[in-house]
Amino acid sequence: MFDYLKDLNKAQQEAVVTTEGPALIIAGAGSGKTRVLTYRISHLLKQGARPSSILALTFTNKAAKEMKERIAAVVGENTARYLWMGTFHSVFARMLRTEHEVIGFPSNFTIFDSSDSKSLIKTIIKGFQLDDKVYKPNTVASRISMAKNNLLTPSAYAENSEIRLADKSMRMPAVSEIYKEYVKRCRLSGAMDFDDLLLKTNLLFRDHPEVLEKYQQRFDYILVDEYQDTNFAQYLIIKKLAAQHKNICVVGDDAQSIYSFRGARIENILNFQSDYPNHKIFKLEQNYRSTQTIVNAANSIIAKNKRQIPKTVFSENAPGNSIKVISALTDNEEGFLVAQEIAETQLRDHYKNLDYAILYRTNAQSRIFEEALRKRNIPYKIYGGLSFYQRKEIKDILAYFRLVINHWDNEALKRIINYPARGIGQSTLAKLETAAVNAETSIWKVVTALPDANPANLNKGTVTKLMKFATLIQEFARIVVEKDAWEAAKSIAEVTGILKELHSDKSPEGLSRHENIQELLNGIQEFSISAIEEGREAKLENFLEDVALLTDQDNEKDEDRDKVTLMTVHSAKGLEFKNVFVVGLEENLFPSAQSEEKKSPEALEEERRLFYVALTRAKENAWFSYANQRYRWGNLEFCSPSRFLLEMDEKFLNGLEGTSRASQARGQGDLPTGYRARTLTSKQPGTPVQKPWRPDAFRKRMESQVTGANGKGAAFEGDDPAKIIQGMVVEHQRFGTGKVLKVEGVPPNRKATVFFQNAGQKQLLLKFAKLKIK
Ligand code: ATP
Ligand code: MG
Repeated sequence: MFDYLKDLNKAQQEAVVTTEGPALIIAGAGSGKTRVLTYRISHLLKQGARPSSILALTFTNKAAKEMKERIAAVVGENTARYLWMGTFHSVFARMLRTEHEVIGFPSNFTIFDSSDSKSLIKTIIKGFQLDDKVYKPNTVASRISMAKNNLLTPSAYAENSEIRLADKSMRMPAVSEIYKEYVKRCRLSGAMDFDDLLLKTNLLFRDHPEVLEKYQQRFDYILVDEYQDTNFAQYLIIKKLAAQHKNICVVGDDAQSIYSFRGARIENILNFQSDYPNHKIFKLEQNYRSTQTIVNAANSIIAKNKRQIPKTVFSENAPGNSIKVISALTDNEEGFLVAQEIAETQLRDHYKNLDYAILYRTNAQSRIFEEALRKRNIPYKIYGGLSFYQRKEIKDILAYFRLVINHWDNEALKRIINYPARGIGQSTLAKLETAAVNAETSIWKVVTALPDANPANLNKGTVTKLMKFATLIQEFARIVVEKDAWEAAKSIAEVTGILKELHSDKSPEGLSRHENIQELLNGIQEFSISAIEEGREAKLENFLEDVALLTDQDNEKDEDRDKVTLMTVHSAKGLEFKNVFVVGLEENLFPSAQSEEKKSPEALEEERRLFYVALTRAKENAWFSYANQRYRWGNLEFCSPSRFLLEMDEKFLNGLEGTSRASQARGQGDLPTGYRARTLTSKQPGTPVQKPWRPDAFRKRMESQVTGANGKGAAFEGDDPAKIIQGMVVEHQRFGTGKVLKVEGVPPNRKATVFFQNAGQKQLLLKFAKLKIK
């Protein structure tokens, strides 16, 4: 018996030591799946496997880093270093750079982020003279992404009648043309988007069997975490790579599959079983993460889903506290009460800030909690949203780095050719771009052919400016080769004049932009130092690669350690915290309105899985919160508590009702109009009252809000639509019972937005709608 196996239970041990042949580990949240993968790799290395023969795919870079650290603790850093471990995107980007010649890309290809892709798609839509109100760049981008994740090249896309029909019905028959042009332009830019990293790997393996064979032989062992969220392209890559040795181990939980909107397929688990008839299945049943209350509550929710692989999850940890439900009057009060609970439990139980996470359905919800935490001086960090690397000044300087490393990168060139201003206007740029498109080449090529070739007929002054720009970039390119990442970056920030320009802007925004650039340079310095220490390359292109492949969970800095975490449920996957607040538990928010609109049971089941993921992040305590009124899209909306609260077995819950103390404490000044009267008159000031959770009262209230079950139907013929007001429960002949969310306009064109329990949200012209007040 190996010493390190003592930290595992029997089932886990077996999953760790059965290293040969295909293995499927399907188990509930917190049962040690990720732990088993980590130990399995350590075990393989202890048994003499070469680190470079092990490929392990994780969902975030952070997860890969943590795993590597744990493995290093068992087998030593020098061994762990050579593992092929990372996200699908980072591992296969690395492979594609090595094999770049075979696929006809430069080794220093740029990785376009989603805003680069969208901006290129916009340019193409404009160039095709299509209406961008019909051809929304976002929608077109997601069509293209869908195609790539299903391995449809532009020609396959064009030939697929089902897809063409769908595009037609969306009034976008030209998507296939846009897709084709997009692929062409990416190639001219020497760039790949995120989906390309998977698509091109698949094409590489399909068209170059000798390359595939090389990697099949290299990787004796393949391991995949969070397998339930792999898409078709990822599934195929793994399948191809594992075809020779078949030592493939995947771990996952179908109850935590939450990325179907990005093309993830639960079926991959089922495919695994048929692809490898000789596979072994391991079931881990004991949850080590959470209290019994949390585990049982989570089980009681997920049991409502029809589509799932049956499994047992139990905890032998302490029974733990019941889950507190926070019912707030308004979204602001929700923020206040959550912050208050954090402060109070910290005082009482001595938790650190890092022991707390606030999980929400959408990024937009973070603001309320940020404000509330700031008022109490509780430090916090936010993941996702507009990340550091998405800020304008950062993207500008990164665009310099990109162009210096890959001169073909048109999106980067367009971004900075006139930043800082050097007198190269939009019309010059447009002429250059047209010349490049006509010659099927990059803008850089057109610029560097000057002055001998001047297809855009630019005047002498402009030609001189462009040549100067090209010389500048070439000069930087020389520096980048000679110097390490930090020195090169610093010199680019200085010589371009970016630092000086931002320094001279004394407005608070200018100041903060300057600080951000300094912060970036500090980050690059840290990167250079640690890369040199670890014996990795410390070039600017290595830094850029890391940044391009960041995921939502990855941008954590050292000083961020002891802070409350704010993140979406999606980014919380795989993580754990002692205390978890699942907030915004309202119909139309969580479950999201989209799942209502689509009205498919599948969409709702995915929301329920998301809720399961949220709750199972908690180790010791969990809170659920909702507001009765919330500002959304600038409107005050009445909200009904989430159906997930109703579905939860009530024995796990405990109630906490908000009062207007929150509003009082803040004073009236910072409350939006329309909000004040309601919150201040509806309740007396005082401390929030804690009382046993009263599911019956709650249920009645909720039912009456959702269905109007308490009301008596009053006929309303619709001649006088002004009688319908926000918050009313109404009946529509066809759509059934619903609640009025918003009324706008003046008669006779007065409209109501109504949320119908069975038909979702509708906008109705009141004079025709014939709504009955219930
Ligand atoms: P998720 O489904 O959320 O990804 P998981 O199945 O990957 O969860 P892990 O994150 O590996 O679960 O483990 C959950 C927690 O339980 C971790 O803190 C882990 O260290 C701990 N744990 C797992 N197995 C054991 C064990 N045998 N003894 C003690 N602690 C364990
Ligand atoms: Mg895990």
